[in-house]
Amino acid sequence: MLCQTSDELQHFVEEAKKHTKEGKVANYIPELGKANPDQLSIAIHYPDGRCISAGDIQTKMTLQSISKVISLAFVLMDRGFRYVFERVGMEPTGDPFNSIAKLETMAPAKPLNPMINAGALVVTHMIKGDTVQDRFNRLLRFIRGLADDPSIDYCERVARSEFETADLNRALCYFLKQHHIITEDVETLLDLYTKQCAIEMNCLDLARIGLIFAMDGKDPLTGKQIMPDDVARICKTFMVTCGMYNASGEFAIKIGIPAKSGVSGGIMGAVPGRFGIGIYGPALDDKGNSVAGIKLLELLSKNYQLSMF
Ligand code: GLU
Repeated sequence: MLCQTSDELQHFVEEAKKHTKEGKVANYIPELGKANPDQLSIAIHYPDGRCISAGDIQTKMTLQSISKVISLAFVLMDRGFRYVFERVGMEPTGDPFNSIAKLETMAPAKPLNPMINAGALVVTHMIKGDTVQDRFNRLLRFIRGLADDPSIDYCERVARSEFETADLNRALCYFLKQHHIITEDVETLLDLYTKQCAIEMNCLDLARIGLIFAMDGKDPLTGKQIMPDDVARICKTFMVTCGMYNASGEFAIKIGIPAKSGVSGGIMGAVPGRFGIGIYGPALDDKGNSVAGIKLLELLSKNYQLSMF
């Protein structure tokens, strides 16, 4: 059985919203600190075109780490599996997303997976193009295609705010450069990465993108195969093993769907073969996941048996 109406969904949003008080908005990127912690919204996009939604659905969020799964799909298509996985691994870390610890203890200094910052920076480094603008536009075009929304753009304020304060990511880049995992100028890479993370949309668009992953890379509404099914499969596997930071194991047990979250409070879910989910709830738990968003998914998963396991 599936959740059929926006009213049904509204009931779950009201229940989960009580938990927003347990979290805090991220403020290490100063612009993100301006978000309203009480907000919560969700959209569910079905393959037959129906979309149900509830909460503050027009509020836009920046993708932040959710962009990592999309840039991974993009470079897998651009470069091929072999090239990509020679430079970034496939294993969860159990560490926070911005940790430098394992980079130092692993040899070679190849990031363990593309969902942690070190790995995502290597993935962004692999986006082809002559200039930052060119590389960014290629990625943005891909994202607009996934969401079927040509109006999607990035938020300049958030990008700038992160660029000006991203010293930890700079440190990761310099470390990776020292070990020849990346070869370009660090500021150039950070310019591209912070723009990528600042790509902005509402939960309706996010659910539409989740749907493409859920349907193995094919847009069920246009019939277009936007990414090869193998690419979608790899992305969903990473979402399960490391999509929810170092809470991915608990999330798999309690909720059991491929999902990726970001420090803006977004969560993209892809219920295999069934539907896409987009959530926005900027109050985060101590791991960096939307506290009310997780509650909401927990309620939905229990009520509608969404776990894939
Ligand atoms: N742009 C953020 C960073 O690199 C993304 C982090 C996240 O959403 O987990 O710190």
